[in-house]
Amino acid sequence: CGIVGYVGPRDSQAILLSGLARLEYRGYDSAGIAVIDGDGDLDMRKRAGKLQVLRDDLAAHPMPDGTTGIGHTRWATHGGPTDANAHPHLADDDKLAVIHNGIIENFSDLKNELVEAGFTFRSETDTEVAAVLLGREYAASGSLVEAFRAVVTRLEGAFTLLAMHRDEPGLVVGARRNSPLVIGLGEGENFLGSDVAAFVEHTRNALAIGQDEIVSITPAGVEVTDFAGRPVEVEPFEVVWDA
Ligand code: GLU
Repeated sequence: CGIVGYVGPRDSQAILLSGLARLEYRGYDSAGIAVIDGDGDLDMRKRAGKLQVLRDDLAAHPMPDGTTGIGHTRWATHGGPTDANAHPHLADDDKLAVIHNGIIENFSDLKNELVEAGFTFRSETDTEVAAVLLGREYAASGSLVEAFRAVVTRLEGAFTLLAMHRDEPGLVVGARRNSPLVIGLGEGENFLGSDVAAFVEHTRNALAIGQDEIVSITPAGVEVTDFAGRPVEVEPFEVVWDA
């Protein structure tokens, strides 16, 4: 129900957790984060319950921090509020992490196809289908942006999807259809959010992503295309926020 992404020079765990805290007003039942750490490994932690449950878990069992990260609060639609169904969902031998807001309407057809092809699932969510599809495409192309282009046109329904892959540190890719996604532009760092609350404490410069568009953010900049890969213009706006 809430989404935040970060790339830049700073360790991201605190940025992700405070972004998720600002999105709490939307309601949720589980929370999770993933980072690519300084050794190039992908680390993930997710828990059913309030954000504080995740915070306490991370305090009791710290995980490595990293400068590329994604965070999610979930409002369950497919699969109950359990640790396993919380996001992120991993694929491609746990090198790829995916978070999702919305509902993938055709997930059971896609899941049947993937199960027949020999893929296994660890959750009851619609989201994991997108994760497994992205993992399969990543294994084929070695490019997260290419994987998104191959997968998003197959997904029906509503999605804000974010992903990162261990083999492309410093990159977070997102896409949206019938669900919101906003970029926050910083100095040598960039953010993605389901709404501006996710990053408002860091920057007031924002870009709204249009319907059926893919965005990639790196510390150096952002790129937005349509689902076919054609560049699109995005309108900058300044976030007005009293807090
Ligand atoms: N449909 C997904 C799930 O149930 C995402 C729900 C959400 O938007 O948080 O896991």
